[in-house]
Amino acid sequence: MAKFSMLHALLRNKHWINEDQIHTPISIPRKDLERIHQRHYHQAFSSDQLSRAEQRRIGLPATRPLVQRTWIAVGGTLMTARLALERGIAAHLAGGTHHAHPAFGSGFCIFNDCAVTAQVLLDEGAVDRILILDLDVHQGDGTAACFRNDPRVFTASVHAASNFPLRKVPSNLDIALEDGTNDAAYLEVIADRLPNLLDQLKPQLVLYNAGVDPHQDDRLGRLGLTDQGLLMRDRLVLDACLRRMIPIATVIGGGYDALEPLVGRHAIVFRAASEQARLYSI
Ligand SMILES: [Zn+2]
Repeated sequence: MAKFSMLHALLRNKHWINEDQIHTPISIPRKDLERIHQRHYHQAFSSDQLSRAEQRRIGLPATRPLVQRTWIAVGGTLMTARLALERGIAAHLAGGTHHAHPAFGSGFCIFNDCAVTAQVLLDEGAVDRILILDLDVHQGDGTAACFRNDPRVFTASVHAASNFPLRKVPSNLDIALEDGTNDAAYLEVIADRLPNLLDQLKPQLVLYNAGVDPHQDDRLGRLGLTDQGLLMRDRLVLDACLRRMIPIATVIGGGYDALEPLVGRHAIVFRAASEQARLYSI
């Protein structure tokens, strides 16, 4: 998809990233992917053997570039999390495919990058408490399903109550908002809940899905945030983590609009991250 290269170009033009801050991921190793996803599923997807019903549920055709991108995107989230653990903050230009379950994909999501990343880092012993903070407008059902029996991963989702998926898998914390929720009401919820959550959980890493589909102009979102609201949200989240010395890795999550405004929205979290990195001398 063009949005990834456009996002990269925009960030360079705005000087929100420099050449030396850019890292190139590799595909997720199969053994790491299989910590979450069953072999029969990833093999069927990668060789275009999914049934029609399974493909329809994903909503994307299994072309060769898509298969490649899908494996690399998960590798990118893992790399971003490792960089965040080293440096305090890191941001991925893709990722956030939170509707993917261990044995099936859904809602444009094939592999669950944040779930795979969390599981790899737990298995390696790099961390033992992770918060997956999902502020995409859709509920993080796949991620919740992956960790419903693992107390080491706390899943939190703030989303539009009436939006996809119809049947939500309960996260550890779900905050369901009414259609049309605006900047002020949304930011109040985040400012009210996030600091306490961080203080209680004391996560060693936050994986932050900064989906931009809560935007008022998003085609699939139902909330009423503006660009400024998204910027304030991302600043709030990043600042809440960094002031507590909690490493944070961001993924772009969902967003549905014409390419140009959409890419501008996805760039917001990078702007917030570069500001916060300067503030905290990272
Ligand atoms: Zn979404």
